[in-house]
Amino acid sequence: MKRRDQFMNVPRQAGKERDSSERIGDFNEYKERFSETEASEQASRCMDCGTPFCHVGETYSQVKIGCPVYNLIPEWNVLVEQGNFQEALERLQETNNFPEFTGRVCPAPCEGSCTLSINEPAVTIKQIERTIIDIGFENGWVQPRIPSVRSQHRIAIVGSGPAGLAAADQLNQAGHHVTVFEREDQVGGLLTYGIPAMKLSKDIVARRVRLLETEGITFKTGVTIGLDVSLDQLEADYDAVILCVGATEPRKIPDAPGQGVGYAMDYLTSVTRQLLTGQSLIDLHDTRGKDVLVIGGGDTGADCVATALRQGCRSVVQFGKHQMPGSTRTADNMWPDTPNLFTLDYGYEEAHVQFGRDPREYLIAIERYTTDEAGRLTGVWTIYNDKIRHADGRVEFQKLPGTEKYYPVDTMLIAIGFSGVEQDVLRHLPVASQNGKIKTMAYATDRPGVFAAGDARRGQSLIVWAIREGREVAEKVEQHLLTVHKQTG
Ligand SMILES: Cc1cc2nc3c(=O)[nH]c(=O)nc-3n(C[C@H](O)[C@H](O)[C@H](O)COP(=O)(O)OP(=O)(O)OC[C@H]3O[C@@H](n4cnc5c(N)ncnc54)[C@H](O)[C@@H]3O)c2cc1C
Ligand code: SF4
Repeated sequence: MKRRDQFMNVPRQAGKERDSSERIGDFNEYKERFSETEASEQASRCMDCGTPFCHVGETYSQVKIGCPVYNLIPEWNVLVEQGNFQEALERLQETNNFPEFTGRVCPAPCEGSCTLSINEPAVTIKQIERTIIDIGFENGWVQPRIPSVRSQHRIAIVGSGPAGLAAADQLNQAGHHVTVFEREDQVGGLLTYGIPAMKLSKDIVARRVRLLETEGITFKTGVTIGLDVSLDQLEADYDAVILCVGATEPRKIPDAPGQGVGYAMDYLTSVTRQLLTGQSLIDLHDTRGKDVLVIGGGDTGADCVATALRQGCRSVVQFGKHQMPGSTRTADNMWPDTPNLFTLDYGYEEAHVQFGRDPREYLIAIERYTTDEAGRLTGVWTIYNDKIRHADGRVEFQKLPGTEKYYPVDTMLIAIGFSGVEQDVLRHLPVASQNGKIKTMAYATDRPGVFAAGDARRGQSLIVWAIREGREVAEKVEQHLLTVHKQTG
């Protein structure tokens, strides 16, 4: 009989992290999985509350609730509490194609919607998820599932990020012949070139790609659809095409100097490429001994901070335009919405250890840049702002006189988000778009038989959303194949 009051006896444990001063010396993962005993103890904190919001996966009037892939969280919590990891794994794999990715880097909206989190620390759902899948791989329970029957249908997927991989997995398991085209030299999208290796080891990504290959999916890397092969050609060669090309067109800062300034994504990509292939870095991407400024207070910026620390930068600061989040929810961010709270993420903790201070500056704006004779960035003059919310809901930033400050800067990395699909990619893929995203109706684009999913459709988002979109677009493609089959057959 499941005890529902264990949260009163067992405190939340977040899982062990490697020591900050040690881990900034390498790019190995900074976090460890739970032991089986720790996972069982932590899972026992789940109240099995009867109306679980953690696995709802919906958005109601801008309130985002629970796990977007509808993970059966309370079910696997009971199994993990009982030490039955193998059955927990089966449940987990029913809803999530790649729990080894989400278990490491998902921001865990499920935990923000955990019923326990109304007045107690949430169940450590993400860390339990990671532990289930890691134990599954360690014990050889994750084996290739090779479809015994194959259809005649051929499907092309453009882009090998989590959306493309999830769609490929679903359609391959349904017995279709799936080919994934990727312009990069490696499969994985932002899982490979984007998310830094200390958060998600590239071996973990490669392990899944090998599994998918063994199961029958064909990967073609170094092929840019729209340039090397046209969309028309793909349409002629395949029964359906799915565009999962991501949304990595960076937002720009038009008045930034031309030298000493780069984009976060380019920086993170080339550091990972160096790790994987040994390819040397351009000067801008080698921050050793440099004063680094990261513009943008989000997670991509945090990844830049952690990367610069590992490269041995002389200093690092991160500017955000918003105010510092509080330690409790605000009236417009109540449970079960994803909480917007102050957290000390891995990179910030490491900066504390290295430089004795949090690198984040809030409500700050650049007034002007200083450069040397060659036009290279040497520093920035800044000013703090006051954020004023007017009665009609308008937000205004007002400069605070007397708060000007100078920061010497050798390298400025822009991490202020993404405006949509890369303009070059859109230019070469003739499908309708809207606000920089591929326009779809129930995942179908304006070209019959051509679908889109993931960030390319919804804008820059999360891995778990990309997986959900990959699963859903696969369903739509199946319906389409059935309709075409009926019409022609
Ligand atoms: C730096 C960074 C860190 C992030 N960290 C996290 C995190 O910690 N947790 C989290 O949940 N989310 C994170 N995200 C967001 C997450 O990575 C994305 O939402 C997710 O990867 C989107 O998946 P996708 O498959 O839609 O696209 P992507 O992963 O962007 O993959 C698109 C792929 O399409 C390929 N492609 C594009 N055009 C073509 C073409 N014409 N021909 C062939 N191939 C093409 C690209 O090369 C790429 O490989 C992060 C994003 C960034 C930028
Ligand atoms: S995928 Fe993300 S939201 Fe879903 S259970 Fe895992 S950590 Fe939570």
